[in-house]
Amino acid sequence: MRDGTIAIAGASLAALRGAEALRANGFSGRLILVGDEPHLPYDRPPLSKHILTGEIPPGATTLPGVGALRAEWRLGTPVAGLDRAGRALLLADGGRVAYDRLLVATGARARPWPAPGEARLAGVHTLRGRDDAAALAADLEARPGPVLILGAGFIGCEVASSLRSLGRPVTVVDPAPAPLAQALGRVVGGFIAGRMEAAGVDLRLGVEVAHLEGDRAVRRARLSDGGTIEAGLVVVALGAVRNTDWLAGAGLDADEGGLSCDGACRALEADGRPVPEIFAAGDVARCPHPLYGGRPVALEHWGNAVAQAAHAARAMLDGPDSIGAYAEVPAFWSSQFGLNIKSLGLTEGADAVAIVQGSPRAGRFLAVYGRAGRTVAAVSVNAGRWLPAYEGPIRDGAPFPPITGGADQPRPDPVPPGLPAPTAA
Ligand SMILES: Cc1cc2nc3c(=O)[nH]c(=O)nc-3n(C[C@H](O)[C@H](O)[C@H](O)COP(=O)(O)OP(=O)(O)OC[C@H]3O[C@@H](n4cnc5c(N)ncnc54)[C@H](O)[C@@H]3O)c2cc1C
Repeated sequence: MRDGTIAIAGASLAALRGAEALRANGFSGRLILVGDEPHLPYDRPPLSKHILTGEIPPGATTLPGVGALRAEWRLGTPVAGLDRAGRALLLADGGRVAYDRLLVATGARARPWPAPGEARLAGVHTLRGRDDAAALAADLEARPGPVLILGAGFIGCEVASSLRSLGRPVTVVDPAPAPLAQALGRVVGGFIAGRMEAAGVDLRLGVEVAHLEGDRAVRRARLSDGGTIEAGLVVVALGAVRNTDWLAGAGLDADEGGLSCDGACRALEADGRPVPEIFAAGDVARCPHPLYGGRPVALEHWGNAVAQAAHAARAMLDGPDSIGAYAEVPAFWSSQFGLNIKSLGLTEGADAVAIVQGSPRAGRFLAVYGRAGRTVAAVSVNAGRWLPAYEGPIRDGAPFPPITGGADQPRPDPVPPGLPAPTAA
């Protein structure tokens, strides 16, 4: 079906790429994108990197391709609810957007500091959008002195790297035993920890912040071990919450972990049946992944938003049977502390990791992760050239440890990766 009206809830990366794929595949009908941010789609990865360092202005992150879409944009307008019987988005300003088919692309938001009164103290920030980055950059000017970062995940570490490159004193606190431990495990995370400390980050691992204290503006953090850290600026980087609140009461299988979908990106009813006219893509979507035993997986990767939106668009136009299950190998990148980190596959649940090329001592290596004797993921650090060779083995679930033997390839010596215990699927 290539006519009628398609509405897209959300107006960022997955929304734009979905809209582009709809048009590229011949959709000639009405296309309406509704976004709560006042901006046309822009890129988020630079927000924690080049925007904070001042290398590029926030406005320079706008994504190209908007003009060619022949789309209607309702920006600065949150979607507040869904009228499934009437097939309409209910807007916070009282308006309605009727649709024949709907693409849900509302992404995720930064998980806030759990104590609202403390989160409201001046100088406390989260980082998800362009306006957050601009506010943080302005506060960096206004509040000189040490910065405290809560959370050593990708965004926390990238912000730490950007701020150290500006010469700011930075403390990073995380209850995990290593930075990036959730995604990469303790072995690779331990290497990153060394780089962070060498760059002057005061890294406090295995400890939590219990409270943020201050009078109107934040002044210090009180730690779970009784210690305190003085800081007039705090960046809360505690992960993301999927934007599904507006779907409450719509009868779909949605919660803060995402909107459940089938392999064709069709949203699922609470009882698991697919809804023919509602699709989802990007950070908000939780789709079964054939490479991981059909387990529902919600990713927060730029590449996933792009590929999944294109997949959903094809399924919307040609029907779910015209296209196989979404099976893109998950991929992301990060740059921090002079390291270019790239990843393929999912490390979650891996029981072993082996350095198969290069070495941490050389500052350049490739780590392969295995689960029950099968290759499930690979991570390169300053060695992106070596990574693509592992896409096939991950896709095929090739035996782990991989067979190597090149001149610069050490004999794989698998060790436990130090990942958190897998959560029940
Ligand atoms: C600081 C930062 C750095 C990152 N760096 C990397 C990186 O280096 N590599 C990588 O692979 N990935 C990175 N990512 C992740 C990547 O940017 C995301 O995976 C990608 O933005 C997901 O796109 P999306 O369109 O699904 O969701 P989003 O980009 O979150 O877009 C969703 C849009 O929907 C809007 N919305 C939400 N609720 C509503 C509503 N009710 N009504 C209307 N609109 C709504 C949101 O405000 C937003 O504009 C980074 C993310 C951040 C925040």
